[in-house]
Amino acid sequence: MSGAIENLFHEDRQFPPSDDFRRAANAREEIYARAEADRLGFWAEEARKLVWRTPFQTILDDSDAPFYRWFTDGTLNVTESCLDRHLETHSAKIAFHWEGEPGDTRTLTYQELHDEVCRFANGLRSIGVGKGDTVAIYMGMVPEIVVAMLACARIGAAHSVVFGGFSADALRERIADATCTTVVTCDGAWRRGKVVPLKENVDAAIDGESPVERVVVVRRTENEVEWSDARDHWYHEVVADQPATCEAEEMGAEDLLYILYTSGSTGKPKGIAHSQGGYLTGVASTFRNVFDHRDEDIYWCTADCGWVTGHSYIVYGPLANRATSVIYEGTPDHPGQDRFWEVVARYGVTILYTAPTAIRTFMKWGTAHPARHDLSSLRLLGSVGEPINPEAWMWYHEHIGGSRCPIVDTWWQTETGAIMISPLPGVTTLKPGSATRPYPGIDAVIVDEEGNEVPPGGGGFLAVRSPWPSMLRTIHGDPERYREVYWSRFDGMYFPGDGCKSDEDGDFWLLGRVDDVMLVSGHNISTTEVESALVDHHAVAEAAVVGRTDPRTGQAIAAFVTLKGETRGDDGLIDELRGHVATKIGPIAKPASIVFTADLPKTRSGKIMRRLLRDISEQRQLGDVTTLANAEIVEAIRSGAASSSED
Ligand code: ATP
Ligand code: MG
Repeated sequence: MSGAIENLFHEDRQFPPSDDFRRAANAREEIYARAEADRLGFWAEEARKLVWRTPFQTILDDSDAPFYRWFTDGTLNVTESCLDRHLETHSAKIAFHWEGEPGDTRTLTYQELHDEVCRFANGLRSIGVGKGDTVAIYMGMVPEIVVAMLACARIGAAHSVVFGGFSADALRERIADATCTTVVTCDGAWRRGKVVPLKENVDAAIDGESPVERVVVVRRTENEVEWSDARDHWYHEVVADQPATCEAEEMGAEDLLYILYTSGSTGKPKGIAHSQGGYLTGVASTFRNVFDHRDEDIYWCTADCGWVTGHSYIVYGPLANRATSVIYEGTPDHPGQDRFWEVVARYGVTILYTAPTAIRTFMKWGTAHPARHDLSSLRLLGSVGEPINPEAWMWYHEHIGGSRCPIVDTWWQTETGAIMISPLPGVTTLKPGSATRPYPGIDAVIVDEEGNEVPPGGGGFLAVRSPWPSMLRTIHGDPERYREVYWSRFDGMYFPGDGCKSDEDGDFWLLGRVDDVMLVSGHNISTTEVESALVDHHAVAEAAVVGRTDPRTGQAIAAFVTLKGETRGDDGLIDELRGHVATKIGPIAKPASIVFTADLPKTRSGKIMRRLLRDISEQRQLGDVTTLANAEIVEAIRSGAASSSED
């Protein structure tokens, strides 16, 4: 893409914080000025809220940019900030309410979590795992996945969590790239009442040549598994005779905490490497301020630990703040489409953090499901993963938040480690669809193709001008690719690959990936804005648009639309939707074609895969589909697209 992105969509609704929220919030307006006046001092102050073995003297070492290093001479073990320090006063506080998909439940207090982490850390050591090793974790959402991550951190082994929905091949590739010598898995995972055979996938992934020497298996679904006595260990046997204390390894602030592969929608997955001290500083600070966390909150992040959201906002951020969290093992539609609301009501969830893809699915399922449950415990809502369309924001606000809960739309990436752009709920006036402002200490700007800052009201590329503590340190095994992908587009700035515009107040509106921007008659048009205009129509739950080659306009906009509930699409509705887009954002953005579909192709993390829709629109061979969650829908759309009406 070259040139600025058009600013087409206008949204005027505003939601200032209530007086109650403003008065009681953890973060007040002054936090911005403080961070602005002394960014490094601000981050050092945030870092000092953690437990350090050796306090750091150096805040930032930028001598080898872009390989920035934070708090370099400090040492710590992140599990002491997440567990040990809470025990003296809060050992009986609940860390996790866990709910299995079949309905079984467990609770873990901070003492119990600490003890289990120590037992497994000792167990890992006893079978030969130690500092410097990398452990692959391929599990469902059982409490042991959190235990396994923390046990690795306890003994100074890096973890590499691979989402349990990935195939054996994807696991094999990630194990090889990180040279994992150990895998922690489960016999199986529950998904919509069926068993996903995790252990079987591990067996296939390490068959033949593999660096893996040992596999630890948590018993969950009790399905039959193949067993290698020399290699495999039951988790319950590994922890059985271990003491509930474990000396934590002293780690340098810059040592590797974990590797996490981005979903890899294009090319070879990138092993994003995160550090100890800087990472924990970023996630602990943002969790406290963005979610306005208080001791009495019941917090629920619906992500999977296989994604960065699970790492930062199920495990490290909440535990560093002594939060009580809910973890749910299964899918939102099992056994009914109201499972989430039943969970919110049962545990009295006060803070809910979920993804736009889930919200749009709930819109499709209808308001009756949340309406059946008492959601009055909720006080704050969050969104992450994709731009949230203003209409989805409004639906979330009204039908889940009872029109009383602020929504924090949080923009960040696997690479950034922690939230980068987001409202602070006691400070920021919310606007549906805007992530609003960079977090204090984050130096984000919107620039044009030359890297010059775009004035308010303009659209361009999001960039970050200064390093921040939780940033990725490198791409595992490929420092050149790190420099190339993130630091070569603009001189001295981090380039995340997303488009963004600002408004008159300087608030940020994310516009989706730069790779997805469409070029129509010389105008760069963001997918996000056209999709939001479509979702603005009362019949539409979800929409995706892509640019398709067009002899007249360069590209023409092809739209794929999912309708709410029982609504059926016809030619009349197609005309109506095209007209709606034209009035909402302008005739230039009118889709040339609209296809109705029951669902959209999504990654396993739930994001719309526009690349495949482009292939369909261009009637090309489909590209790599290994990260696709719902393969059936692609064929359905392809046959539908062939018969759709166009003009
Ligand atoms: P890959 O990099 O492998 O293609 P991915 O980018 O989907 O995968 P993540 O790191 O989980 O993997 O997602 C980060 C991206 O998600 C951001 O770059 C942005 O495009 C999008 N995103 C996340 N949160 C928001 C948000 N609140 N608003 C807009 N976009 C968001
Ligand atoms: Mg990405």
